Amino acid sequence: MKEYIEAANEALVHTYNKLPVVLDKGEGSYLYDTEGKEYLDFSAGIAVSSIGYGNQDFKNALTDQLDHLIHTSNLYHHSQSLEAANGLRKLSGMDRIFFTNSGTEAIEGALKTARKYGFLKDEKKYEFIAMENSFHGRTMGALSVTGTKAYREPFEPLIPGVSFAQYNDIESVKEKITNQTCGIILEPMQGEGGIHPATEEFLKGVRKLCDEKDILLIFDEIQCGMGRCGYPFLWQKYNVKPDILVMAKAIGSGLPVGAFGLTEHVAKNSLVPGDHGTTYGGNPLALRAISATVSIFEKEKLIENAKSMGKYLESKLDELKEEKEVITDRRGVGLMQGIALRTPVGDAVKKAFERGLLLIAAGGNVIRFVPPLTIQKDEIDKMAEILNDIL
Ligand SMILES: *Cc1c(COP(=O)(O)O)cnc(C)c1O
Repeated sequence: MKEYIEAANEALVHTYNKLPVVLDKGEGSYLYDTEGKEYLDFSAGIAVSSIGYGNQDFKNALTDQLDHLIHTSNLYHHSQSLEAANGLRKLSGMDRIFFTNSGTEAIEGALKTARKYGFLKDEKKYEFIAMENSFHGRTMGALSVTGTKAYREPFEPLIPGVSFAQYNDIESVKEKITNQTCGIILEPMQGEGGIHPATEEFLKGVRKLCDEKDILLIFDEIQCGMGRCGYPFLWQKYNVKPDILVMAKAIGSGLPVGAFGLTEHVAKNSLVPGDHGTTYGGNPLALRAISATVSIFEKEKLIENAKSMGKYLESKLDELKEEKEVITDRRGVGLMQGIALRTPVGDAVKKAFERGLLLIAAGGNVIRFVPPLTIQKDEIDKMAEILNDIL
């Protein structure tokens, strides 16, 4: 591995501080490196590999698709669009779906939709309100609504007309609203920012403000959606439905896909042919991955498992918090959990890695737990034991 890593570091742009491992294959909740070492995976490729590794139904579906078509462009219909769209419509409650190749591109499409919706009412209705501490992706539009200065600053000027409100503070959102606001974008649970769930009161308050002023509410459920929190999408826990719902990460189980969903009202009053497009987005192979993921979720009852195992994980982390002075907080819903430490978490993540446990940081001082939704009790116990030792 050492030789490989040295050569790879010379070949790649240095934008990631990768851990020193070369991963090779996976089975269930475990990954294996090229030297055969086993890792219990509580990162799931950053909340992507929800069906676990090596799922046979998934492999069969993709192999079958390779025998048909991989790509056609969006100039033609192909046989995979309807099932994938219907799968996401059913889970998300949205009426129409646009497919993209990544999360950040789905955010771009959502922002463009809101801009077009606003533009049709009044040319000047182009402003967005986003949240401090949020994360929406790395492309210029998504970066413009990402509330972490360090990510934004080197790339300014970004798109104009964005202001940032305090998360979970409805008054601060109210203060930012103008006659030019076209959209409010937020994560129902902030992920990268440190695992901060929204309060029900806040979500309901923002929904009400949007209804009063004809502002579109955009939920970024790229990380907290697709069953991770024990609901198909987190909006359903609070019964606060967005006008635009952004999805990605787990919806394709690792194929690079994203999507945004619109209500019929928004779809009828925004994008028209020529307004938006993508060459790859929604290609047959990618959409087969989405359909297969949706049917595996159903067959293996993964959302139910996320709910029950989420409770169990929560209880184990709460136990640890009682015992360990270094833990200041435990937050999260379902299988999207975090513990805040008094210290930076880099060391803990590295020590866990050495012990064969994959964890990720969120913000500077939070350890994030986003395992596959197939995770079982004994695996949570094993994780908690290692965590107990290293803390
Ligand atoms: C990961 C993530 C994104 C960006 O998705 P990419 O596929 O990395 O472009 C946007 N929003 C949230 C909440 C995310 O977790």
